[in-house]
Amino acid sequence: MASAFRPKSQSTIHEFDLIRALHRRHSRLTPSVIRGIGDDAAVITPRAAQWTVLTTDLLTERIHFDLRTATMADIGFRAAAANLSDVAAMGASPQYLLVSLAIPRTGTSRHVHQLYRGMMGACHPHHVVLIGGDTSASASGWFLSLTLVGTVPPRKALFRKGARIGDYLYVTGTIGDSLAGLQLLSEPTSRASRYSRIAALSTKHQKFLIGRHLRPTARIAEGEWLCAHRFASSAIDLSDGLSGDLRHICEDSHVGMELDLGALPLSSACRAYAASRKLDPVDLALAGGEDYELLFTAPPRQRRRLEQSAVEQGFSITCIGTIRPYRFGLQALTLQGKRRRLINCSYEHFK
Ligand code: ADP
Ligand code: MG
Repeated sequence: MASAFRPKSQSTIHEFDLIRALHRRHSRLTPSVIRGIGDDAAVITPRAAQWTVLTTDLLTERIHFDLRTATMADIGFRAAAANLSDVAAMGASPQYLLVSLAIPRTGTSRHVHQLYRGMMGACHPHHVVLIGGDTSASASGWFLSLTLVGTVPPRKALFRKGARIGDYLYVTGTIGDSLAGLQLLSEPTSRASRYSRIAALSTKHQKFLIGRHLRPTARIAEGEWLCAHRFASSAIDLSDGLSGDLRHICEDSHVGMELDLGALPLSSACRAYAASRKLDPVDLALAGGEDYELLFTAPPRQRRRLEQSAVEQGFSITCIGTIRPYRFGLQALTLQGKRRRLINCSYEHFK
């Protein structure tokens, strides 16, 4: 919508030059794209006999990202990873991306190109094609909206509903890293505190945790694998935090759950960070959002095949609990072997 864009005198950005440059740098020719960037709308031919999966995410400056702790490329990468992760949680394969952008007065075309470099960096391994978007001025801060289109074989999509009593609960990768990374980035950086920070935690661990926050990996291959083998009865991605996201599976599947806190997969970096800050790493794993790991349930009869196949594929999965009847509610088995009610400590926007 060109008319919404600010007069050129207020900005170094020329909208049409910018779109042309984005087109030149990032759009690719693929047989299924009839028309990409450059027309009034994109046109694609659907893959025969596939379900289409659509997801969109809106990210706003100071709510979802902070330019003091992340580069534009980091912000782009993380935005794309978040969208890719939603597609992964459906067991789907991502295909097309649309990006809408509102640019504040302080924004330059360099910023925009860095943003796209990050975004497309996350998308390239999955052969996602940029097919369009929209560009506007913003009176206050950056706004970034991504829409991703993907496909999944009919009737094989993974939903939040579908978990059954007796199913095992699994999670991919490790959890709590992203929150630890965010906390590291948010710590005051006076010379004295930076020194104590470095003294308390190795550079390798710091880099790992900050990397997990700024450059998360969407578990696309794992989602496709779960879907192809019909291993999972339900799935969700971890974007708000384990203690909140597993509630969605329970509510949508109308079941309860027993979570084994001693089984939560924690990285050595997360443990080291928690020890250095006198925190419980389990709390980081329960509360920490934005790990973008997959949380899924699988019937007990699948357990051996699932775990064996994961080893063969080189996927890291950990069994962290069991689905119980609805009236059981959500309970956690502590490291001391006691049961307690699971408190929701995840992120919510409108609390
Ligand atoms: P219209 O005014 O018809 O919406 P635009 O000038 O906004 O057309 O867009 C022209 C073309 O550029 C379209 O193909 C649109 O999808 C694409 N486009 C616009 N902004 C972006 C963006 N930020 N990223 C990717 N493609 C974009
Ligand atoms: Mg437009």
